[in-house]
Amino acid sequence: MKSKDMVRAGWLMDGSSGSIRRDVFLEMENGFVTELGWNGSRGHDPYEDKSHRRVWDLSDCTLIPGLIDCHVHLSMSGTPDRGEREHQLSRTFEEVKPVIEEHLRHHASRGIVAVRDGGDAHGHTLWYKKRWMKEDCVPVRLKSPGKAWRSPGRYGRLIGDPPPEGSSLADCVARYARSADHVKIVNSGLNSLREFGKETLPQFNLDELRMAVRRGEELGRKTMVHANGKGPVSMALKAGCHSIEHGFFMQKDNLERLAEQQVYWVPTLFTMKAYASLLEPGSLESRVAALNLESQLEQVSRARAMGVLLAVGTDSGSLGVHHGTSFVEELKLLQEAGLDLHEILRAATLHGAALLGVEDECGPLRVGSPATFVALLGPPSRLIESLSRPTVVCIRGVDVLRGSMPIPGPRPGPLCSFP
Ligand SMILES: [Zn+2]
Repeated sequence: MKSKDMVRAGWLMDGSSGSIRRDVFLEMENGFVTELGWNGSRGHDPYEDKSHRRVWDLSDCTLIPGLIDCHVHLSMSGTPDRGEREHQLSRTFEEVKPVIEEHLRHHASRGIVAVRDGGDAHGHTLWYKKRWMKEDCVPVRLKSPGKAWRSPGRYGRLIGDPPPEGSSLADCVARYARSADHVKIVNSGLNSLREFGKETLPQFNLDELRMAVRRGEELGRKTMVHANGKGPVSMALKAGCHSIEHGFFMQKDNLERLAEQQVYWVPTLFTMKAYASLLEPGSLESRVAALNLESQLEQVSRARAMGVLLAVGTDSGSLGVHHGTSFVEELKLLQEAGLDLHEILRAATLHGAALLGVEDECGPLRVGSPATFVALLGPPSRLIESLSRPTVVCIRGVDVLRGSMPIPGPRPGPLCSFP
């Protein structure tokens, strides 16, 4: 008979309610939760029947749902080496494949069970997913847009292309989104590191954006929009996008609109902290990066008060932002902006799950749901500090920190239509 496993944990925070459960037990079989309870929720001792159970003793740990990073670039690393960063842009798929795998492992080892990619110049990440990835080998759920779309001559060379001559943005979405998981559009430049708060022009006009978002929706795809500054963010929201990425300097009206429209905001705070720490100390660029961070922390604090839906994204692959390890840094900054533990966990789990469409696996543990959770040493009050070293990362009933994660091989199946 296939044995059931029993997990015994000190605490459970599920990210949906504001409550903390004590003395938790969770029974799982074939990767699914078959029983779940806590002190006071049942009348009998769940440990009475020891005949067929292996017990995971996590009584000194807090269980949380699997974490979700809503903004990464798997084909790039966070290396600050300029030559290496440039080289990353011209790598072949064969060169990038092990890099993507390594980055996915870094995510898994930190309890991140699903990631949303923000695009790469050659569509390698989507190709990897379609051609190579086996989720039972690298069990992290991956959502990829392939390439991002940008305007000719504008920012975004690292992550995508402009629509080819004679094609509109909506044509490109119609042609490529079917084979991708979502659409990524770049609608502004980067934050200036020389002039605090300097806004760049939108890359597309409202009609172009609106048509593109609509075309994506017709194919069942959501659109994530890179946008900094009042104008570019406002236009993306008017066009009906599903998430705003970065959103530095968007200002109050846009925050109100985010709350009204219940559009997700992924504020990527840690990017500016990484810049500030890597640039020459005391230089103008380092000081402006620190000011950008300060301004974004204020915006997040206001957004919280207004009821904006926040989701966590690190922009891993950006300068100094490393896959896996940066997630906890992003959470610390959300804490600094005034979010409490429950709000942080909600942003890092439930909101991400809804944005990525992975609620079937990532979210509050329930009987019948996949046994996917993270165990962190200590009570909930130590949650953030323990996140940098999870005790157990259980994905569909397997502890991926101890179980093997074999190298995936090629598999037959539909190929991505990217060149
Ligand atoms: Zn990005």
